Amino acid sequence: MALDLYKYVASYDNFPEKGVTFRDISPLMENGEAYHEATDKIVRYARDKKVDLVVGPEARGFIVGCPVAYDLGIGFVPARKKGKLPGKVVGASYGLEYGKSSLYIHADAVKPGQRVLITDDLLATGGTIEATIELVEKLGGIVVGTAFIIEISELKGRDKIKDYDLLSLLQY
Ligand code: AMP
Repeated sequence: MALDLYKYVASYDNFPEKGVTFRDISPLMENGEAYHEATDKIVRYARDKKVDLVVGPEARGFIVGCPVAYDLGIGFVPARKKGKLPGKVVGASYGLEYGKSSLYIHADAVKPGQRVLITDDLLATGGTIEATIELVEKLGGIVVGTAFIIEISELKGRDKIKDYDLLSLLQY
């Protein structure tokens, strides 16, 4: 029987700042069955999209994307925060639900025409996913899907990326 994945999300009011409810996927990751089930759902979503590559933003995008890439037998490319990647990179900056940031990807990590799935733990305002899409497209990749464990519906991140297919497993 399918697990109720909502039971594996911990909620913390006023973290990391007042007014924000932090939705933590740690309990989901700590439970093998729950982690497997969430991963499996994203793998099933990706299968018919003929994905060549998974890209995920630092850091929880790695946790979601790496097992998906492994299961599909394809590569994973990290989009990292400033100063983390050596060599030639391309960057994009964005605003967050809390704060501002920028993401970078190796300039040769995505080949023109590659079909890319982007993963992250959570969709809030959509700034992170928008910046990650920008990076993939700067390198000529085609974003064929975006997948999140959690979507904070009231922040309407989905509206920012209307032109892209989106899967969220849990909505708040
Ligand atoms: P956004 O760019 O606003 O869509 O924010 C998404 C990114 O910020 C994700 O990578 C999340 O890990 C993190 N994030 C934003 N809001 C929250 C939240 N309420 N709870 C947990 N993580 C969050």
